[in-house]
Amino acid sequence: MIKITRDHVIYAFSQSDKPAAFVDPGQCVEFETFDCYQGMMLAEGSTFQDFDRRFGNPATGPVYVNHAMPGDTLKIEIQKLEVGSVGILDIGGSSGALGDAFAGRKPVIKRLSVKNGRIDYEGIWVPARPMIGVIGVAPAGEPVGTLTPMDHGGNMDCTRMGEGATLYLPVNVEGALLSVGDFHAIMGEGEVANCGVEIEGRTILKLDILKQTGITWPMLENEEQWITIAYGATLDEASHKAVVQMFEFLCRKMGLSEVDAGMLLDMAGDLMICQIVNPKKTVRMEVPKWLVRRMQEKGRGFAATARSTFEDA
Ligand code: CA
Ligand code: CA
Repeated sequence: MIKITRDHVIYAFSQSDKPAAFVDPGQCVEFETFDCYQGMMLAEGSTFQDFDRRFGNPATGPVYVNHAMPGDTLKIEIQKLEVGSVGILDIGGSSGALGDAFAGRKPVIKRLSVKNGRIDYEGIWVPARPMIGVIGVAPAGEPVGTLTPMDHGGNMDCTRMGEGATLYLPVNVEGALLSVGDFHAIMGEGEVANCGVEIEGRTILKLDILKQTGITWPMLENEEQWITIAYGATLDEASHKAVVQMFEFLCRKMGLSEVDAGMLLDMAGDLMICQIVNPKKTVRMEVPKWLVRRMQEKGRGFAATARSTFEDA
């Protein structure tokens, strides 16, 4: 299996980045990642004075996927996700919903031991929920820094981005140029006080290309749900986008009528905040697959065109 080490790190998603490796569709790739502080805060006693922000939020990559062309969709199966043994949790910056509460106070940094799927917070063992914070492809235009989420993916900070999930990203440039980083051992929905338990790790991703799906935004799938992930300058903007994108997916790809799709969202669609602390906010819309299937069966009249997988679409 091809392995991308931490010698290959980016701080912005850019079409001019030199690929760390070339892979064929269907191949698995292993990525080793730094934590968001590129390991600079791991030493006991280190402070934010020791952190060089030029090297913040590194992502490992990029990987060039052969035959990926603009308009295609990159399918990314998260087959394995492992985090390191020490996670960093900090509070006291000026950003996040608690910025005012902690204003003028010295930041507090804790190094938490992570083992056997649990995080040791001073003797309280918190079950880990490992997730990928940053995962994205190169945008078509100007480079986008790894702190910002947009339709190329990036710093989406979605708690559902864990082992077993499948992410779909629109391909904007030849080869897609996929990079990944910023793992969290756990993160609360919203990432409200600025970070999760920031940690290095490794992941194995299976990469595939779907030709010209017409879906131009990030989507996630797990055993039980379809999920759209949308960004915006505000939560309102991101929320609106996440709902409309799911509605379009249900109508155009899953074959539901507009009324059924809208009513499904009213009955069982969950609008969730991914994070409120990045340069753009991210919101996701989750719908249960079982109900999509039942709605498709109900609409037998056009069952011939109803789809059950992203690939069929
Ligand atoms: Ca992040
Ligand atoms: Ca992070």
